[in-house]
Amino acid sequence: MDEIRIEDLKIYAYHGVYAEENEKGQDFYVNAVLYTETREAGKEDALTLSTDYGEVCHFMNDFLKIHTFQLIETMAEKTAEQVLLHFPLVKEMDIEIRKPQAPIGLPFESVSVKIHRGWHKVYVALGSNMGDKQAYIENALQSIKKNEKIKNVKVSSFIQTAPYGEVKEQDDFLNGVTEFETLYTPEELLEFLHVLEQEANRVREIHWGPRTLDLDIIFYDDLVMDTEQLTIPHADMHNREFVLRPLCELTKYYRHPLLGKTVSELLETLQ
Ligand code: ATP
Ligand code: CA
Ligand code: CA
Repeated sequence: MDEIRIEDLKIYAYHGVYAEENEKGQDFYVNAVLYTETREAGKEDALTLSTDYGEVCHFMNDFLKIHTFQLIETMAEKTAEQVLLHFPLVKEMDIEIRKPQAPIGLPFESVSVKIHRGWHKVYVALGSNMGDKQAYIENALQSIKKNEKIKNVKVSSFIQTAPYGEVKEQDDFLNGVTEFETLYTPEELLEFLHVLEQEANRVREIHWGPRTLDLDIIFYDDLVMDTEQLTIPHADMHNREFVLRPLCELTKYYRHPLLGKTVSELLETLQ
């Protein structure tokens, strides 16, 4: 990706752990790298096709002057989030907050925190086989669309499928997939999805038993992870037609980072 760089933007502000810092204030310096596409703006010589770095500088200055945080970690975290939310062409950013007058009591040049944050493309499978299935799914999609840390939501069509796994004597499933971009980490996303499942009054009983709402993370960028909490890509997605078929509508050429096949190839193999 292309980069727009802002170096040593000086901002007088009131962040710090000590009361004196909050009262008197001091200089902070911000370094930022905005990851974006500048080609169209460059070809057309049109600012409207790019991100106005002047506007970003004023935005960060205003934000860091209005708020008072204890930590430079928080200054970096919140500023990155706000910039990513307000400047839609910025996909990712590095931000470094430097505090050369930090009250350390020893001679030093500067201390700083530098982080990288950005939007992540994810696919989430939705399923329901209890009660008003369509309503549970619609409600979940509404909450997903309303969440400010989520944007560009797309939804596949929904298919009716017979129950999967051991427990056969239950109602048919309604299944589909949604694609969106999010600022959440995988763990934060799972937590949010669990809240939506709970709002649908889901009771965790039998594995693969009847449920009002089931939300599984299928892909998160090209991430491969395996923890007690989370397996990404979803461990069994390649064996499930009710995941692959709707997923195919949204991203048939996406290549599974472990299996090396595209979504449409996985669907073909399964059939
Ligand atoms: P399956 O994952 O085989 O579809 P399930 O959806 O019925 O089974 P749940 O009871 O909904 O299983 O979830 C149990 C746990 O699985 C979740 O609490 C979560 O910690 C974990 N999990 C692991 N990987 C994922 C993932 N990719 N998406 C959602 N949950 C996951
Ligand atoms: Ca599931
Ligand atoms: Ca699940």
